Amino acid sequence: MAFELPELPYGKNEFGAFISAEGFDYHHGKHHAAYINNLNKAIVGNSFETLSLEEIVKKSNKESNLPVFNNAAQHWNHSFFWKCMRPGGGGEPTGELKKLIERDFGTFDAFKTEFSTAATTVFGSGWAFLAMDGNEKLKIVKYSNAGTPLIDDLKGIMTIDVWEHAYYIDHRNARPNFIESFWKFVNWDFANNNL
Ligand code: MN
Repeated sequence: MAFELPELPYGKNEFGAFISAEGFDYHHGKHHAAYINNLNKAIVGNSFETLSLEEIVKKSNKESNLPVFNNAAQHWNHSFFWKCMRPGGGGEPTGELKKLIERDFGTFDAFKTEFSTAATTVFGSGWAFLAMDGNEKLKIVKYSNAGTPLIDDLKGIMTIDVWEHAYYIDHRNARPNFIESFWKFVNWDFANNNL
């Protein structure tokens, strides 16, 4: 079954200086779309074709099939990333996530600093994730390229894409500005629902 580009769950003009409509046009409309097109080509007529996206990510990783893995994992990561932001988002999490962040990182500010540092220091292209391990402990994980918590048996809670294509249009080379701006739009309801 061919995969399709998921529609953004908001308008492209609702994120101020964080991501412009042009930024979304390239990142969602071209980069994310290209991963899906390449994935569809890579799975046609082979053992991946009938699997779910999660199954494709895990099987291609186990088999070290990079052409399939890279495109499948990037499709999964990007689909997840778009849901991690929303117009009017930001601030601090509430409910269970607030409790767990304070339990595992001390304070929200301490978590925020640690997550921003992780995202800033991914060397080259990659991702920073807030994830939950099998003992229900929260951790911050950095991934290069198409790395994803799915292959580490971690549950993704929230993420930021720090590939240069994620910020070059709106922030040029200034990855830290993009990360700082992200905090104003984090969709904590989505993150809470991922627990
Ligand atoms: Mn990206």
